[in-house]
Amino acid sequence: MCYACAEAAERKSFAQSRVFTGYVSDAHPGTFTTWTGAELAKVTRLTTGRVRYTPTGGAYRMRYVTAVSPDGRTWIGHGSDAWDVITLRTNNPAGFTGGELSRDSYPPFRRAS
Ligand SMILES: [Zn+2]
Repeated sequence: MCYACAEAAERKSFAQSRVFTGYVSDAHPGTFTTWTGAELAKVTRLTTGRVRYTPTGGAYRMRYVTAVSPDGRTWIGHGSDAWDVITLRTNNPAGFTGGELSRDSYPPFRRAS
């Protein structure tokens, strides 16, 4: 399958999903993308937490992402900034047009310290 077909399949799957794993990377700032780098959603907020340490001494920071897909759904997710890959979730069903998640749905955002 070529990139164009893969991207079309990913976009279709994303539009029908409420949980989706993609990428937020320096290569494509401000966007949530497929593995091929195709835009799935606009990142509207990206907050990075304090430095945390793994049991083995590795350091990472948690990042909290909010994104809005072309159909108007708001997506949120968080994960280690050690990886570009991140899973976003939405409370809005496929076909939802506009609006915000309830305040209670958001993770506890933390400012970088
Ligand atoms: Zn193809």
